[in-house]
Amino acid sequence: MPERGLPLHGITDVHLHLQQFDRAKPAIVETMRRTSPGFEDVLKKLHDPRGLLDILDDAHVDRACLINYPAPEVLGFLPDMNAYVANYATADPKRLLPFGSVHPRFTKDPMKEVERLASRLEIRGLKIHPPHQLFAANGYVDGSLPLLRKIYAAAEKVGLPVMVHTGTSIFPGARSKYGNPMDLDDVAQDFPELKIIMAHGGRPLWCDVAFYLLRRHPNLYLDISGIPPQRLLGWFPRLDQVADRILFGSDWPGPNVPGIRENVDALHALPLSPELQEKLFVTNARRLLP
Ligand SMILES: [Zn+2]
Repeated sequence: MPERGLPLHGITDVHLHLQQFDRAKPAIVETMRRTSPGFEDVLKKLHDPRGLLDILDDAHVDRACLINYPAPEVLGFLPDMNAYVANYATADPKRLLPFGSVHPRFTKDPMKEVERLASRLEIRGLKIHPPHQLFAANGYVDGSLPLLRKIYAAAEKVGLPVMVHTGTSIFPGARSKYGNPMDLDDVAQDFPELKIIMAHGGRPLWCDVAFYLLRRHPNLYLDISGIPPQRLLGWFPRLDQVADRILFGSDWPGPNVPGIRENVDALHALPLSPELQEKLFVTNARRLLP
């Protein structure tokens, strides 16, 4: 492996997509083909966990959170994905951290389901994707989605972090209006012990909102995945003020994401202090997901 001068060991990628694309809607697969070079080859490699571990090795990444969620209406993924991702991660539980999801409109008893995921399937976190799952992250506030409150309450109780997508989505059918991170202002206050990972920092429309919320709520974390590395300091110029709650994520394989290794290298080339890099790539994720 060529030497890249990367002094960091123990990197965690908190946002790697492991989804069953053979079940996705044709328009979703078409979008991936168009925006993600070599997508077919990627799928073949991801089929076997060993293929993924090779990709992580090549990127000098130690651990990856495997992100998966049901979104029947927009993407085609069904609620039975939790078992798939949990089983996949058993290939190397130290390096592969499965994230599951409970959809408030497709679950009868979300509280029990969250507890089952944590105890029986050893799921390490939950994912909520408002633009793809078609509800607001604070949809419980106006009474329209009471089961969502139970999901957050259960996650808070069992200590599972919840990752919430913020920002736009280019997939056909996605409703980007649900990507405004301001909805997390309610969640962060209503569930003060819940660790909330704000994926993508509201990019590209709401980065200032995301930064305001990060400073206001100590239980909010910023996952920088989906932010082009060359944009990071332009969109978050005061990143050092929230240094203890920033997390590296690649969002790979996703639209317009070149690769995990490409992402690590591009971020490493930014003028970030060694202390900030250590927090971003290594120590913050170790604290959140020991
Ligand atoms: Zn993502």
